[in-house]
Amino acid sequence: MKTLIEKANGQSIQKAAQILKSGGLVAFPTETVYGLGADALNAKAVKKIYLAKGRPSDNPLIVHIAQLNYLNEIAKDISAKAIELTKKFWPGPLTIILNKKDYIPYETSGALDTIAVRFPANSLAQKLINAANLPIAAPSANVSGKPSCTHFSHVINDLDGKIDMIIYEESEKEFSFGLESTIIDMTLEIPVMLRPGAVTLEMLKDCIGDVIVADNLLNDNEHPKAPGMKYKHYSPKAEVIIVSGNLENMSAKINELILQSENKKIGVLASDQTKNLYNNCLVLSAGNRNNLLDVAENLFSILREFDLNDIEIIYAESFPQNDIGFAIMNRLQKAADYKIIRV
Ligand code: AMP
Ligand code: MG
Repeated sequence: MKTLIEKANGQSIQKAAQILKSGGLVAFPTETVYGLGADALNAKAVKKIYLAKGRPSDNPLIVHIAQLNYLNEIAKDISAKAIELTKKFWPGPLTIILNKKDYIPYETSGALDTIAVRFPANSLAQKLINAANLPIAAPSANVSGKPSCTHFSHVINDLDGKIDMIIYEESEKEFSFGLESTIIDMTLEIPVMLRPGAVTLEMLKDCIGDVIVADNLLNDNEHPKAPGMKYKHYSPKAEVIIVSGNLENMSAKINELILQSENKKIGVLASDQTKNLYNNCLVLSAGNRNNLLDVAENLFSILREFDLNDIEIIYAESFPQNDIGFAIMNRLQKAADYKIIRV
């Protein structure tokens, strides 16, 4: 299949919307990561997403809307607290799990009776969804298991020839976060945060009171409750090993590991504060440790850059777990398959 790759303008948005309406696949940017969109009401179209990504069929999709009144069309039993969340955080990087309306295909919900819904803040995403005038199922636009895409070149790398169209923006400024949305399950008596993201636990609690964090986010051995969270995720080709401790111990340990790995191609995922401490390897800084939003934005593109350089082992520094740091470390731990050396 030939994949159209087009910069966003009035014409290309109409073309992309037409493809979505006729059951095709379009990758588009959001303020978190690129999404791979299909008509959420068309089971056949949704199946193509799973095929293109190589995604297991029990890993449900997030449905994107660009007008609040669509929420009542696709979800039911919407609590007052869920409404509060939509008022406070939409459009934005928060996905809300609700009971689904019966006509939503099980292909979209991964065979569940619930549905994940998000209203993205990126204006191109909104224009496209409104032009298609449909709820759009859109998981991250990467090959299953790989880091999500934060630049259209990443999408080309993963999905060229497998989808109908990639639409992108010249300016990447609207990528404010670079990590996938926070997910909260609002179908339970006490809401549960299933995936951390830019909307933090504190922000959720401030808005609706009690929120529980899913056990598997706190304890590596716990089986995840969110379908999809059990699969391999965010993994570059290289083996990732996290080193955790204070800056001095962490960098000393990583230098020791570099020396021990002499005949391998080594990468170090460092920070602005530490990038000059390492030699004889590819050092990439995720940004300033005092600006975790920056680190979040850069994380996935850096993991992909190590792959482009055929790095075999990545030693990754760890980052503070406060605010968006919780989401950063969640993605990094999954990329490392929980291999962590504590010093
Ligand atoms: P992605 O869009 O690739 O970030 O993946 C979407 C993720 O949302 C899935 O992997 C699930 O973990 C989660 N998700 C989607 N729908 C549901 C649902 N109905 N219940 C719980 N988690 C969900
Ligand atoms: Mg994903």
